[in-house]
Amino acid sequence: MQVYDLFTKLVRHINISKNHMIGKIRQKLISLAPAPSLKAVDSVCPICDRPIPESQKDAHHLIPKSKGGKATEYLHRICHHQVHALFTETELAVKFNTAAVLQKHPEMQRFIHWVKSKPNHFYEKSRKSSRLKDQ
Ligand SMILES: [Zn+2]
Ligand SMILES: [Zn+2]
Repeated sequence: MQVYDLFTKLVRHINISKNHMIGKIRQKLISLAPAPSLKAVDSVCPICDRPIPESQKDAHHLIPKSKGGKATEYLHRICHHQVHALFTETELAVKFNTAAVLQKHPEMQRFIHWVKSKPNHFYEKSRKSSRLKDQ
């Protein structure tokens, strides 16, 4: 009788853990699925941390396509143009191949500071930086 009690207790315990596990897995799956409310919101630019309106969404190859890069990230068109105005394809491929590194460059910091004061949809053709013109 005692053994039987122990057994039923054990079975109950296993069932509870199993349900607990399933609950956890279900929660995990829910957290992994893109929340519909988030989908409606614009993506955020990794350069200037502002939301990107659909009309200003530009895919940037972190490593230039010409250097075999495949991964892209969405930037504002203006941020994207700024990146390419400042850096050569080689510089992008070798050194400035993440948004975090790009953000740290002093010229980019100046740009980010400036662009943050503009509306999210602001766009203006950026001029080639004097850095690249001299080359
Ligand atoms: Zn690009
Ligand atoms: Zn941006």
